[in-house]
Order: sequence, then C-alpha cells, then structure tokens
Amino acid sequence: MRDHEVDGSPSPAGRPDEERNRPIRPLLTDSFEVWLKEIGESRAWSGCAFRLFGIDGSELARAGDLTEEVETVLRECVSRAMRSGGSAEADSMPDGRYVAAYSVEEPERYGICAVLGFVMPTAAGANACRLLAEAGALHFRSRVAAAAERRLLHRIMKFQREADRVWKRKDLLHDAVRRLHDQIDVPSLLRETISIIETLFAGAELELHLSQDYAAVDRRVKPLVFKQGVDEICARSFLESRPITAYGEDGSVEVAVPFSGKQAVYGVLDLKLKAGEWNEAELPAFVMLAEEAGSAFEHAKLYEQSNLLIAELQLINDMTKRLNQSLRPKEIFEFITREFLNVFKAEFCCVLQYDREEHRFIVMSSNIPAMVDESFPADYGFCGIVMQTKEPLIISDYRESGNVESKLMEVTGARSLIASPIFVGGEVGGVILVAHRSANFFSYDNYKLLQVIASHVGLAIANATLHAAVRRMAITDNLTGLYARHYLNEQIQKRQRQDPGGSLILVDIDFFKKVNDTYGHQIGDQILVQVGNVIKSCIRETDIAARWGGEELAVYLPMARVEQALRVADRIRQRVEAETEPDVTVSCGVSEWTQDDEKISPETLFYRADMALYAAKNSGRNTVISG
Ligand code: GH3
Ligand code: MG
Ligand code: MG
Repeated sequence: MRDHEVDGSPSPAGRPDEERNRPIRPLLTDSFEVWLKEIGESRAWSGCAFRLFGIDGSELARAGDLTEEVETVLRECVSRAMRSGGSAEADSMPDGRYVAAYSVEEPERYGICAVLGFVMPTAAGANACRLLAEAGALHFRSRVAAAAERRLLHRIMKFQREADRVWKRKDLLHDAVRRLHDQIDVPSLLRETISIIETLFAGAELELHLSQDYAAVDRRVKPLVFKQGVDEICARSFLESRPITAYGEDGSVEVAVPFSGKQAVYGVLDLKLKAGEWNEAELPAFVMLAEEAGSAFEHAKLYEQSNLLIAELQLINDMTKRLNQSLRPKEIFEFITREFLNVFKAEFCCVLQYDREEHRFIVMSSNIPAMVDESFPADYGFCGIVMQTKEPLIISDYRESGNVESKLMEVTGARSLIASPIFVGGEVGGVILVAHRSANFFSYDNYKLLQVIASHVGLAIANATLHAAVRRMAITDNLTGLYARHYLNEQIQKRQRQDPGGSLILVDIDFFKKVNDTYGHQIGDQILVQVGNVIKSCIRETDIAARWGGEELAVYLPMARVEQALRVADRIRQRVEAETEPDVTVSCGVSEWTQDDEKISPETLFYRADMALYAAKNSGRNTVISG
C-alpha cells in the first residue's frame, strides 16, 4: 500500500507538467544522442543542425550551431508544429537550407512530448531532407512508445501483484472466518482465533483478554484487568466497545479491538506491533476477524452450555429414576455416595443424616473408612454450618478457609469441598459432603449441580421414609402393636420356602366375652394389649407375634421344634395368668411343621394349632396343648 503512493500509479488529474515530463526527459535526450550517432555515420549530412525541444518550448538538446536568424526561423516552425501536433516547414531560407520541425507523440498520454527541429543543406534535395526528418521523428516516436509500453507493462504487473495480494488476503480472511465457525468448543476456538490473527499479522504479539476465566486454554489468553495503568487500552476498548489504537514513543503500536458477539462483549484482542509493522488499512480486517471470532465464541459457549445442561439434565433424570426405585434410605445414601464420586470425579464423599432426637449427624454412607458409623454434634464442622445456614457451601482451599474443624478434611487431607443440605420436609434432614485433595477442584457448576441433585435426594428420602411408615402401618395391628395377620401369613409362607421347619402358637383368651360383659369393651381392649405385651416379652427377636383375629393372638417361631414352642406357650400362659389386670387366662394351641411333612402350608399349620387350641378349651382352659 505504501509503495502504491510513492510509485507511478496512474497520474491523478491536475499534476504539474513538470512532474509529467520528468520521466520522459532523460528518455528524449538519450534518444537524441543515439539518433545523432546513427545519422553521424552518414557523411552526407554534415552541415546539419538539430534541436530537441520540450513541450514547454525549452531546448532539451542540440547539435550544430545556427545563426540567430536561422534559429528564429526554426523556433517559429517549432511553435507551429507544437500547435498542430504535426510537422511544419519554413517556406524559404536566404541560404537555401531546409528548416522544419516535427512533433513527437507520446502514445500513452495522447499528446506530444517533444518537438524536433531540423536545419539541413538542401544539396541532397528537399525530399531527402524530409525523409531524414521523418525518420528522425519516427526514431523518437518509437523510442517513446517503447518506453511507454515498458512503463505500462510495469504498471500492469504492479496492479497484478497488488490484485493477487488483495485476493490472497481475502482468501485468507475467508478461510479464517470459515475455520472460526468450524470450532464448536471454546478452547479450540480461542486457540484458532489466536493462530489466525498471528498468521495475518506475522511478527506481532497478540493477547486475548477475556472477562470470563478461560486462562487455562493458552498463555496468551488472560483475564481482563480493570486496574489503572495495566492494559488500560484493553479495558477502555472493552468498556467503550470500540477499537483503540495507541502509538508508543518508539513508533510501536498497540491495537485493542473488542471481542464481541451478538449478545455481549466477551473481551479484547490486543495486538502489539513494532515500529513500521502496522498499517492502518488493516484495521477493518482485524475488526472483522474479532467480530467473527466473537460471534463464533458466543456460539461455542452456547453449545458448551447446552451440552452441559443436557448432560446435567440426563444425570438428574437418571439419578432421580434410580433414587425413586429405592425405598430404603440406606440404599439411597450408598447409591449417591457412589454416584457423586463418579459425577464430580471426587475422591471422597460422605452422606450424613440428621437425627432429630439425638441432635446429631450420623454418617449413613462414606467411602472413607474412618467416617463410617461416625456421628457428630449438630453444630460440628461443615455439617454444622450447613445446618445453621441451610445453604450449600463451596470451599476452594480448606487450608486457607479458617478454623472450621472437620474430621473428613483432616483424615483425608482434602482441600476442596462442596456441601449441600438434604432438605426433608422443609428441614435439614442430612448433609452431603464431596471432597478432593487438590485445591480449587470444584467449579461453580459442580456446586450448583450438587445442590440440584441434593434436592432430589431429599425428595427420595422423604418418599422412602413415608413409604416405610406406610408399610409399618400396613403390617402392624393398631391396638396391640403386634403384626397384622396378613404379615404373619406372608412370613410363614416365606419361611416355609427356605427353612427346614418351624412352630406356631395360637393364643385365645378364656371367657373373654365375660370380661367384656363385666368390665366393658374398653377394659377388654386393655386386656388384649396386656396379653400382647406379655407375648412380646416372652419371645425371641426373630419370632413373629401377630393379632390373628379379634381376641386370638399368634406367634410363629422360625426353626423351633414343638417342644420349644410348648415351653414358650406355657411361659405365656403362666405370665398372663400372673400379670393381667383384671386377671384373665389364656389357652394355647401349638403346632409344628418340618420339611418332611406331606403338605406344607400356613393353612395346615393354623388348622392344626386351632385343633390343639380347641382341645385346650375342652380340657378346661388355661392350658397348652400341641396338635
Ligand atoms: P372361650 O374361652 O371359649 O374362648 O370363650 P370366649 O368368651 O372368649 O369365646 P370366644 O373366644 O368365642 O369369644 C370372642 C369374644 O371376644 C367375642 C368378642 O366379644 C370378644 N372380642 C373379640 N375381639 C375383641 C376386641 O377387639 N375387643 C374386645 N374388647 N373384645 C373382643
Ligand atoms: Mg376366641
Ligand atoms: Mg376366647
């Protein structure tokens, strides 16, 4: 571009003639010398005189002397030839010499560039003189034309080179823009942007200052700083959203161009060039590239975010499904411990449940052996903080985070932590702690995701707790707190599939109708509760006591033989007799099954116990009989 201005591009209109003549004058004088040499070889022409005039009338070269009188005649011919653009001859000269002037055209400029003056003796005849003059003029014309052609060729080649350069640049830009839009992830887009601009401005130093942190991508990607004196033109370019060029005293140049998309300005591209390396004309290309890169960045960011969102939604969806499949809180806690280690690439996870009665956090699941079965006071450590604030928290470096005591962080040597409350029924029902030994390990997105998943965990726990309560209600008899009949049936059925044997005791209160009639139903109910409690205290934990019917109770003793069951039944009988108030007695029927029985079913077992009970009633009550 610069040499375009210095060198001979087409002359703009209105340039002084002097300027126009400049390149042709040496050519003319030189041609004059060459021509003289050529004709000098022919002796016939001695005594001639020749003159070369510029178009301003000045004499450029001469050969041979002339009297003032002949000189004047020649000048007059020259003027005429110059006016007509052709040739002019003097009518006559006193000494009979031929005097003529021939203009020399310059084809390139469509005009004459010089006039040749000829004075020759007419000894060889006027025609010969004319021929010589014409040949001379022709000589000049062809030299001028050749020179013009050379210049034209030179200019065409220069245009060609310039056009080539412009096209190459355009191609490069076009290709660059395409490459920018091909990048779908942010790090590679940033790297591509830098590489493209560095290729276009070879030798320049480029930095990309971003308002968001992407520093890990490349050392030339830096956070945008708004401090006075530090990268001030970048901050200004960012805030004012326009390109800014600053010139240093040593001629160096710094150009800051906003890195912006359709929605926002994301940073600034900062180009530093040494003296002489910058050309203002390149600014639009730089701005265009910055804009294209900015909008490609915007797309890549959106793409990145939508991918992240999709992945998060998928994860949340999967986890919620899995969480809701389980109705056992313990199972849920173990599942989320495994999943959180996986999802956050964390090293440690610990899930604690809050015990409202004990006011303590109990570790329900953890991959840290030292934490398993631990419990902590409600105000201890990070759980305590979460409990108090009811907010999630993120610790980027435990060593720098002050004086919170935390067994988890101490035993593992972890430095990063994210924690979230598990809300169950609007209250903090537990806390999830996820940790890693590297500092600054978890991102803000991790922290938000943990919070979202924790809310689903809370729902799953509430669901499981509710389900457990409903289930307990469904299998429990309201009055006595013993199991309900259908549960006993189910359990016997299950046991009969897997055990070699077991026994059943049926307990029936004697003359209960009378108790009701004497004391009323309410007291009758209390007696039932008392008998139920006696039974509970007489059996093993593995035995199952249930309310079989109105005032009939039953106990199944897995793996027990009939002798053992008779002993338990008799203990019940004795204690009922001794402990009930008002006092009642019970009769018991006992039956057993073994794997050798022909028919094994709860009905058979009950039938036989019922028969024994019937026998006990018939034999005077307050007794135990086996069937
Ligand atoms: P037996 O010694 O032959 O068993 O005499 P019994 O009066 O106990 O006779 P039976 O077992 O047939 O009587 C059942 C009575 O128990 C009928 C009913 O009044 C009473 N009963 C049944 N369920 C309840 C209950 O839930 N509460 C109260 N208070 N009484 C009940
Ligand atoms: Mg009965
Ligand atoms: Mg009875």
